[in-house]
Amino acid sequence: MYLVVSIYNFCYFLFQTYIMTEHLRISGMYWGLTALDITHNLHKIDKEEVLSFIKQCQHECGGIGASILHDPHLLHTLSAIQILCYYKALDTINVEKVVEYIKNRQKDDGSFEGDKWGEIDTRFSFCAIASLALLNRLNEVNIEKAVSFIKSCMNFDGGFGSKPGSESHAGLIYCCLGTLSITGHLHIVKADELGWWLAERQLPSGGLNGRPEKLPDVCYSWWVLASLKILGRLNWINTNKMINFILYCQDAETGGFSDRPGDMVDPFHTLFGLSALSLLGYTKADLKTINPTYCMPQYIMDEMNLKPDRLDLVEKTDHLKGWAGIEED
Ligand SMILES: [Zn+2]
Repeated sequence: MYLVVSIYNFCYFLFQTYIMTEHLRISGMYWGLTALDITHNLHKIDKEEVLSFIKQCQHECGGIGASILHDPHLLHTLSAIQILCYYKALDTINVEKVVEYIKNRQKDDGSFEGDKWGEIDTRFSFCAIASLALLNRLNEVNIEKAVSFIKSCMNFDGGFGSKPGSESHAGLIYCCLGTLSITGHLHIVKADELGWWLAERQLPSGGLNGRPEKLPDVCYSWWVLASLKILGRLNWINTNKMINFILYCQDAETGGFSDRPGDMVDPFHTLFGLSALSLLGYTKADLKTINPTYCMPQYIMDEMNLKPDRLDLVEKTDHLKGWAGIEED
């Protein structure tokens, strides 16, 4: 496949044009820079330009916006902090103020609002907790309450939704498991039920969907696979079929990945396609190991001495034996 030769072409294209989509710029930078790092190309981007841009996106309140003069939001705040970790440059922003901003987003029930306008979603819990963990300031918020809110979003199928009573969705399951993984509360998860639900996301094409009855999509490869990895149940899906599906989503010309074969490529699906391949141990491309909780290169986690939890000990109960065979078909 074209993987190695064209990744750099794609990322160059990405930095020249795609992230001109201003409302997503900092997240676009995180997707692109992470893809570049795991393909050993991070040094090809001008670090000072990136840092100076991020500095200008921080507001007086401490929060960080998608671009200069864009309103701050926890989503962009996390992306900015992740990028600064790659460059060991957290002092580019005012850390005390950003901690204060994140702290002010926590509500009485432990949930987090994304910004001052008050939308509540388990995605924002993950953004807040991951940001604070990267800043080594987890003690600034009420962790017990944050976990209890996540627990209140758990459904009968073991999955999680955006808020209490919302249906299970792979992206939100990833955010909830990420929050529990960082805070050391994975024991509250119904790991087998949830593992089954996640494994059932694999379709005959090998691709994964995010909810029952939906089409497969490369970004769900990441959310489902990272969740299974955190649960210690990554072997519950057919790895070879999954890898083939992701490779079919790569465009031969630009090197980027799309959501499913034949569609337009973009940096978002490129990062999640590459990250999924890294997680699956795809050896035909020289990809750095990715951390399933943070979606950041593992070596960065090691350097920062961050060790999010994982239920790595797979319980080999009888009802799982049937699934072992799926790897061989
Ligand atoms: Zn997608």
